[in-house]
Amino acid sequence: MEQTRVLGVRVDCVDMNGALERIEDFVGSGSRHVVATVNPEFVMRAHDDRNFARVLEAADLCLADGSGVVWAARRQGCTLAKPVTGVDLVPPLAELCARRQFRLFLLGAAPGVADELAARLRAKHPGLEVAAHSGSPDPSSDAESVSMINAERPHMLLVAYGSPKQELWIDRVGDKLEGVAVAMGVGGAFDFLTGRVPRAPRWMRRAGMEWLFRLANQPWRIRRMAVLPVYALRVLRGAS
Ligand code: UDP
Repeated sequence: MEQTRVLGVRVDCVDMNGALERIEDFVGSGSRHVVATVNPEFVMRAHDDRNFARVLEAADLCLADGSGVVWAARRQGCTLAKPVTGVDLVPPLAELCARRQFRLFLLGAAPGVADELAARLRAKHPGLEVAAHSGSPDPSSDAESVSMINAERPHMLLVAYGSPKQELWIDRVGDKLEGVAVAMGVGGAFDFLTGRVPRAPRWMRRAGMEWLFRLANQPWRIRRMAVLPVYALRVLRGAS
């Protein structure tokens, strides 16, 4: 199965390698593509927010980010083994950019975080062309961010403003970006990859319990996570 729908939201049944292949093809094609990493919070938001639902529907690749989405997709025949998360994708995407000489741009997170990640990626992949800017998802910063990005002519743009701000940012400014072939929201990936926010141990991630670890470390997430039981019930009821 290539694709399924989780409570109406499209999810592509591709694992990490499949995602990397698709993204490499997107860059090869030259035209602009949007990649979304769909988690249960996205699905629930899309139910209540038609604009966000439209943005997800228009994406070229909707990856299953989060064990709740993998669980729901598997119930419908998807053969996905585990989530494909933004944070797990960034290192192999940087490797892909280095190998294929694609330029990479990191946008978002607190001041200095994207710069630090860019420096780390450059140290790991000498020759990788990677630029960074923290910017802001506020529309008043769009012009500055767009001109900084266009000055670098990146092939690939990773946006770390959290959801839904990053998806809405990409939707709002996407057609002003020159030469960007792949734009993707990556949530808190820059914070994880620079060690600012701890990641759940591997066993917890394998057990689909990363959400519990995040909740223990960032208790303010409880409000966002409150939708999860409703999500699970709707999936079990087979609602659409
Ligand atoms: N962020 C930002 N500007 C904002 C709001 C958030 O740069 O106005 C960044 C924040 O610093 C963090 C990321 O967006 O790096 C959001 O991370 P989170 O883990 O909350 O993302 P999500 O859970 O949505 O994937």
